[in-house]
Amino acid sequence: MDNGEVEIFTGYRVQYNYVKGPSKGGIRYHPDVTLEEVTALAGLMALKCAVVDVPFGGAKGGVACEPKGMSMDELERMTRRYTYMILPLVGPEQDIPAPDVNTDHQTMSWIMDTYSMLRGYTVPGVVTGKPLQLGGSRGRLNATGRGLAYVTQDMLRSLDLDVIGQRVCVQGFGNVGMNVARFLHEEGCRIVGVTDMTGGIFNAEGIDIRKLASHADKNKGIHGFPEGTFVANHVEANRRLMSMACDVLIPAALENQISEANASDVKARIVVEGANGPVTRGADEILAKKGIYVVPDILANSGGVIVSYFEWVQDIQAYLWSEEEVNVRLKSLMTAAFNQVHEFAKNHQVTLREAAYMLAVDKMAEITRLRGIFP
Ligand code: NAD
Repeated sequence: MDNGEVEIFTGYRVQYNYVKGPSKGGIRYHPDVTLEEVTALAGLMALKCAVVDVPFGGAKGGVACEPKGMSMDELERMTRRYTYMILPLVGPEQDIPAPDVNTDHQTMSWIMDTYSMLRGYTVPGVVTGKPLQLGGSRGRLNATGRGLAYVTQDMLRSLDLDVIGQRVCVQGFGNVGMNVARFLHEEGCRIVGVTDMTGGIFNAEGIDIRKLASHADKNKGIHGFPEGTFVANHVEANRRLMSMACDVLIPAALENQISEANASDVKARIVVEGANGPVTRGADEILAKKGIYVVPDILANSGGVIVSYFEWVQDIQAYLWSEEEVNVRLKSLMTAAFNQVHEFAKNHQVTLREAAYMLAVDKMAEITRLRGIFP
């Protein structure tokens, strides 16, 4: 540590499945990281990659630490040591880490550098979520929000609803929430409610998302935005948001936000999961009984992992695509996955979540069956 003392951190890397190709998944730095949590998250990554047909299995990594109390130098040394210790497990053909909670493009740059120094040559494809200068992909930063906007439009169209004029509520105005609100606003939706940690803004006429984004950027949150009704307490704002009469509700902040306690208040026709696990199991059943469609996280928020896949492909080809190329291919993969899940749900009379899980497991099982047992 900076003060000369030695601290021991415990880290993990779990590869859940790699029948289809290298395993893939983020690395998080958080005091609550445990082997069980990392394993569960690796399993979810395997399902997510399978459902959207990217040629990856699932993995996840983590170090139990409190990064907020650590200096940049301490974080860099911890990251390099962790990379050294998982070095035999990772690589572009083997397992490809990415950012997750409390890790970012700088963390990925250190991992890429450490891996490359120990290999003796530069290996950009060992991680994704890198800065553009180190082989990152154009369009990666807003890919999750963009993908969410694509599946929201696909869902609306599947119900024969126009995209233009639909009333949308978004919980969370960070990377995912802000971007999905912005893209849907650009497509003609009316964003009628947005909440973040600093409160909520409501406007039945529709919120100008560009203005709100620049306000949130300057003020570190949406608090004080003048155009609409502002609710300063975020708990109260969330209560209002979740029960608002709207067409689409997008929880894009945290897990367990729609639970048995508030699911019966939801009036939206469609819920699109931006965050991971924002709807609890009990709530899922209540929403299904009410006839509300839930587009599940492993499909809806997979835009990030899809563009991570594109980043890996570009690194291997040593050829950088234009942002337009990235977005066109993202749309094509997301829409194909949505159509598959939607069709499967219809044919098997199950919810979209059940269909996504069933399809993902089917695909992994089929590959395992085709490969057979060695020797
Ligand atoms: P972020 O930190 O950029 O933004 C989080 C936002 O949620 C902030 O606006 C914050 O104020 C708000 N928030 C936090 N607690 C809240 C509460 N109680 N009520 C209302 N708002 C609250 O994070 P992000 O990258 O946008 O990720 C959001 C979610 O999406 C997380 O669950 C994350 O795991 C998931 N996700 C992110 C990505 C990605 O590419 N960033 C990909 C897949 C899934």
